[in-house]
Amino acid sequence: MKHLKEFKQAVNSPLEYARQLKKDSSKKVVGYVCSYTPEEIILAAGAHPVRLFGTKENIGLADSHLQSYCCSIVRGILEEGLSGKTDTLDGMVFPHTCDSIQRLSDIWRMNIGFGFHLDVILPVKLDTDSARDYMADVLTKFRKDIGGALKADVTDANLIKAITIMNVIRQSIRSIYEMRSLNPRLMSGEDLYTLVRASMIMDRERVAELLLETIAELQAKADKVKQGKPLKRLVLAGGICNHPGIYPTIEEGVGAVVWDDFCTGARYFSEIINDGADPLSRIAGRLIHRVVCPAKHIDLDGRARHLIRLVQEQNAQGVIFLLLKFCDPHAFDYPYIKQSLDEAGIPVMLMEINDPISSGGQMKTRVEAFLEML
Ligand code: SF4
Ligand code: SF4
Repeated sequence: MKHLKEFKQAVNSPLEYARQLKKDSSKKVVGYVCSYTPEEIILAAGAHPVRLFGTKENIGLADSHLQSYCCSIVRGILEEGLSGKTDTLDGMVFPHTCDSIQRLSDIWRMNIGFGFHLDVILPVKLDTDSARDYMADVLTKFRKDIGGALKADVTDANLIKAITIMNVIRQSIRSIYEMRSLNPRLMSGEDLYTLVRASMIMDRERVAELLLETIAELQAKADKVKQGKPLKRLVLAGGICNHPGIYPTIEEGVGAVVWDDFCTGARYFSEIINDGADPLSRIAGRLIHRVVCPAKHIDLDGRARHLIRLVQEQNAQGVIFLLLKFCDPHAFDYPYIKQSLDEAGIPVMLMEINDPISSGGQMKTRVEAFLEML
């Protein structure tokens, strides 16, 4: 893939990328921590949104504020904040989602003194008539708050431009997922993961351009890809995948990851923003209708139904549920998801992971055993 090196550089050093972008473009840079962040509004304020995933280095400073039983993402982000690595950011945005992110926001506000700090108190229950109005009100407030913090006029015209860019990005990633599901040997799962992660870090206009070029490159390559013996098709599920090593572990043998349900994957491009008059209520509409994570609520079995539908649509043979240690929302979600998949006759394996991964060898053995069983 022609642009892989550029995507990888951003993924490997997101804060360095942000620092350089700020220097080159004099744009303000805004950090965020969850895929429920309305990136379009940050873009429309003339700023650059960069998603943080936290350091994977040893945690020291964050230990004074967070218990060791918080997920490694939240601990890693706080460590970066406390150690001054995020000082290049002009502000931070914290959507109201899982408890860990809500507490991270409080600790950040009280201990990390740079830039602005905005909470976006989104509705939790999304399946009511009032949720959409409430969501639109929250976004109206966020538009005003971020406009004030960045001293920018967040106009409708800029919102429409931001929606168009984000729609191109989301649609392009979806197209690449679809091409790869049809032809899993077209590119590795790890490269696709890198591309999606980079889309949350890099300049969005540049990303939109690179993705369209990547689609053209993959289309030209598709017919030439040699097909070997049949692959065992898997869907990965969970919150966030922060362990790209899982992809080669699955795909070195007979496995192929053909889709996922991750915030670092398909949930990021879920739902294109509709055409229509009021851009803000259209952004609100997407946040209401996108695939939910367990920190939000639509109904009792919506997430399981979505996963079963994905398995059927992508002709997959099984699911690996990647559970980041101490991620409560997904841990609470798993038992009923497993029960629903069992009832639908879909094999599922739970894999709990932590930073650093304790044993890659053990992970490989478990994956191989699961693939053999399919
Ligand atoms: S799993 Fe939920 S809370 Fe966690 S990052 Fe994704 S949307 Fe946010
Ligand atoms: S959803 Fe889970 S992994 Fe994501 S920040 Fe919350 S607790 Fe951590």
